Amino acid sequence: MKTADNNLIFLSLGSNISPRQQYISKSLHLLKEYFPARFRVSSFYVTDPFQGMNQQAYINCSVQCWTDLNPLEMLDTISEIETIVGRKRSGKKWESRIIDIDILLWGKQVIEQPRLTIPHYDLSNRDFFLIPLLELDNTLIHPCKGDFLLTELEKIPPLLLTHPVKIKQDCSQTYHKFHQE
Ligand code: ATP
Ligand code: CA
Ligand code: CA
Repeated sequence: MKTADNNLIFLSLGSNISPRQQYISKSLHLLKEYFPARFRVSSFYVTDPFQGMNQQAYINCSVQCWTDLNPLEMLDTISEIETIVGRKRSGKKWESRIIDIDILLWGKQVIEQPRLTIPHYDLSNRDFFLIPLLELDNTLIHPCKGDFLLTELEKIPPLLLTHPVKIKQDCSQTYHKFHQE
């Protein structure tokens, strides 16, 4: 199978409803089943709720994988995985969630469709996206701006920071051991 970099994608996973690590692990298992090619997972990080929202802390991580689906098929698949894991939507913006899976990057492509914007519209403002993502590849460049994401991370205004802290004994390590190939 050819796994060219223009279909290499990066996702962000987040959960702030307990048991957070289990919801993330379940999502990772499903993602790996659907997208086994070039599949890699970052460490898990505990992060403050974005923009000081009064919520439980989040756990976030990032995933690299390869797909031959088109972007809308991919969006439908990750929505399906969110539903299997237990996400229920009330329609409120940024409500607490069992699992949220966002598509951050799709190779170097820029995709603008009514249901889908890639790179994620807020990629440059979210340290909880960028820190796990850069752990997987610290040479990544923002496809629209042409800047290194590492540089974008350094420019995030203090009020937007969510202070990701790597979890030492996290399920991602159990996950990596379980899936060693
Ligand atoms: P945010 O998008 O600010 O992180 P959110 O993840 O909580 O907020 P959701 O309710 O999960 O928002 O998603 C709202 C819609 O965003 C989805 O139905 C989807 O159509 C759309 N969307 C647009 N671009 C993307 C993307 N890159 N990844 C995932 N969903 C996206
Ligand atoms: Ca999101
Ligand atoms: Ca989302």
